[in-house]
Amino acid sequence: MDRKPIEELSDKLISQIAAGEVIERPSAVVKELLENSVDAGALAIEIRLEEGGCQRIVISDDGQGIPPKELALAVKRHATSKIASLEDLESVLTMGFRGEALASIASVSKLSITTKTIADDHAWKLTHPSHEIMPAAGAQGCRIDVEDLFYNTPARRKFLKSTATELGHCVEAIKRVALANPQIGFAVWHNGKPLYRWLIGSLETRANEILGAEFQAAQLAVDASSEIISLSGFIGAPTASRARADQQFIFVNQRFVKDKLINHAIRSAYQDVLHGDRQPILVLCLNILPELVDVNVHPAKIEVRFRDSRAVHQFIYHTVKDRLAHGAGQSRDTDDSE
Ligand code: ADP
Ligand code: MG
Repeated sequence: MDRKPIEELSDKLISQIAAGEVIERPSAVVKELLENSVDAGALAIEIRLEEGGCQRIVISDDGQGIPPKELALAVKRHATSKIASLEDLESVLTMGFRGEALASIASVSKLSITTKTIADDHAWKLTHPSHEIMPAAGAQGCRIDVEDLFYNTPARRKFLKSTATELGHCVEAIKRVALANPQIGFAVWHNGKPLYRWLIGSLETRANEILGAEFQAAQLAVDASSEIISLSGFIGAPTASRARADQQFIFVNQRFVKDKLINHAIRSAYQDVLHGDRQPILVLCLNILPELVDVNVHPAKIEVRFRDSRAVHQFIYHTVKDRLAHGAGQSRDTDDSE
């Protein structure tokens, strides 16, 4: 076979390859943009989707915004305001830190960023791929507009499913971020019609809005902590179980995870009260010292690694099991923190 000479890949191609791993569909764009809004300290986020996000995703927030002189860097690979050293990485508290999302998204879509910080007297707009930066109108925060996802990578575009399927994935991504951040208000629109509006509230109000009446009627509050770990949230009584595990939201330090170890601990705790393969409904937030968990596993995966996984398993198992054992009779207003 003919051999080509070794050559360095262009930045653009590197970003497109990276995008292939992380940005597999519109919901991945939604997840990344929402995490950036959370990291920017937003209190209100508006999400507008067109055709399940395949045609357009516009996310506006009222966070810190990006100063105009950093705007060009925002869409550059490995450029981030969130970590500057290895020590920062060890204790990272923001959702992002790789400086890859915007570069990846920009490499496979037509993107614009309109942003204003408190220090600027008007907004600025960066348009990609033309790389223009112009003065613009806009309130404090960031508005990111992603159009025609995968327009330049037809092979990926072919993998997009129906509007309904892609919308479903986007909504799932939005619900995860919304449950992890009840301190932020959300408004979601699809094809110009309002889909959801969740006002700033507590985890309880947010969980009830998102998980519905069945959960509200059968929820048990969980709140346990030790020196290094805490578990809080709401678990469904066995009466509110489901055939599928599609209503389980578990967060580790505010990050949505699907973790085998955690699932196993929960499953075991429910073993005596839940029949066969019925699945509980739950929203649980595990908080642990950042140095005891590694979230740097893979950008697209929702896995974490615990330094002491046995202790984490035990803690979750006992907390959930105890709560279920004392469960049914107690009102959910009861303060049963230990
Ligand atoms: P990361 O989140 O890993 O830093 P991104 O590519 O997602 O990388 O974003 C690059 C940078 O752009 C961020 O570090 C942040 O400074 C800035 N940024 C992105 N989105 C927003 C936003 N919504 N509000 C304010 N700054 C943002
Ligand atoms: Mg990010």
